[in-house]
Amino acid sequence: MNIVIIGGDAAGMSAAMQIVRAQPKWQITVLEKGAIYSYGQCGLPYYIGGIIKSHNELIVRAREVFQDRYGIDARIYHEVKEINHKKQRVIGTYHEGNSAKNFSLPYDKLIVASGASPVMPPFTGKNLAGIHVLKTIPDAQKIIDELTSNVLNVTVIGAGYIGLEVTENLVASGRKVTLIDAADQIGSSIYESDISEKIKQEAVKNGAEVLLSTSVSGFEGDGQVERVITDNGPLETDMVIVAAGIKPNTDFFTNTDIHLHQSGAIVVNPYMETTLPHVYAAGDCATHYHRLKQRDDYIPLGTHANKQGRIAGANVAGNRKAFKGVVGSAIVKFFDVTIGKTGLNEKEATELGIACCKLSYTTTTHASYYPGNNQLFIHMIKNRDTDVLLGVQAVGAIGVDKRIDVAATALYHEMTTEDLENLDLSYAPPFNSTWDPIQQGARRL
Ligand SMILES: Cc1cc2nc3c(=O)[nH]c(=O)nc-3n(C[C@H](O)[C@H](O)[C@H](O)COP(=O)(O)OP(=O)(O)OC[C@H]3O[C@@H](n4cnc5c(N)ncnc54)[C@H](O)[C@@H]3O)c2cc1C
Repeated sequence: MNIVIIGGDAAGMSAAMQIVRAQPKWQITVLEKGAIYSYGQCGLPYYIGGIIKSHNELIVRAREVFQDRYGIDARIYHEVKEINHKKQRVIGTYHEGNSAKNFSLPYDKLIVASGASPVMPPFTGKNLAGIHVLKTIPDAQKIIDELTSNVLNVTVIGAGYIGLEVTENLVASGRKVTLIDAADQIGSSIYESDISEKIKQEAVKNGAEVLLSTSVSGFEGDGQVERVITDNGPLETDMVIVAAGIKPNTDFFTNTDIHLHQSGAIVVNPYMETTLPHVYAAGDCATHYHRLKQRDDYIPLGTHANKQGRIAGANVAGNRKAFKGVVGSAIVKFFDVTIGKTGLNEKEATELGIACCKLSYTTTTHASYYPGNNQLFIHMIKNRDTDVLLGVQAVGAIGVDKRIDVAATALYHEMTTEDLENLDLSYAPPFNSTWDPIQQGARRL
């Protein structure tokens, strides 16, 4: 059996390892357009900030390991340009030095794990030096190399997870950072407004400037970026990081009738099968079934890419497994706080026609008499008619991760607030209150 995988990172190599283990005699060819395999993109902001000293620390398994230990034909600089699904072939270009050669490879089964690319809006002057996106190790390296002592002011465009992490790391490196977003709140499609406000306060407390309701139209400079042009006037800058979202890498399907989601992601069923025969997809290039919305969604995250890749590989290797979907969990560190969320926000629930009750409250992470007790701000919503929990968001210095993961488990099992209240959660004064913060909210809601 001849398996071809497009993309050598999280989803692609998770799939490859399942096949190698289940079917050691099968031929596996991975086509990767870059030169680096299987690395932790999630660590890139911390590489820029110097917390991670070398990009080698981000590499989970080097290409040589896949080749030498597992017998995978792991190619580099092989960019897929077209799929001919009737002839079951992948067609593309292989770059070697300055020359490019074409290739055409047959497959019995194809796994598409091509991920997503950062969006660069049609800003004027976007090709000036000093304007960056952050997606790969070479992207991070370029930013680090240009962060000389002359770079004092950096503008980050887009206040999503990546924008926040980059802001924190650049502030830590001593730069004055301006974070710009066109929306009127941070993470507008993700967070409730009271959570967004806490994030903004944290940014300001740490010396970052936050400009909301501010649209960027372009950049100016003499070869090098010097100004960001916004609808509120120009801003002096020495460097720009654009973190304005990502787009699935699916252009090579143009000549096929594969079913794509409105986001451009490849629609997959629970077995990671696409609408083309013998073609599977996983990770940032594919859809993610949302258990609460009960429909396909696009939530490109590393956790989903690893799970979906593993499931795609298992199914290709003959071990039928289903992806059970996501509930919308995410977490981010921002200076001294953690912001976590799981499930729906109020806007999403309303759009789904669900009437909800909400509660925002400030509580403490553990018994008030025990030292190190911290404040936790929580926003919780439930279905007004069924009492089923719909979503939890939390901000605090400690204890956010634990509460979000408990809530995510409750969401997966469609628990009511009463079920949540009845959970047997661990308690001793250094760790919790007799009533866990999540149970306090469930009780009150
Ligand atoms: C800065 C940053 C921080 C992040 N932080 C988090 C986090 O904290 N938590 C979290 O869950 N997720 C995080 N993510 C997201 C996470 O990294 C991705 O969800 C994950 O890498 C997706 O894996 P993937 O294998 O689907 O795609 P990718 O990692 O994008 O890999 C796809 C591979 O396919 C290759 N490719 C693309 N097109 C072609 C082609 N035509 N031919 C051949 N090869 C091709 C690419 O070069 C790439 O190597 C972060 C991402 C970034 C950039």
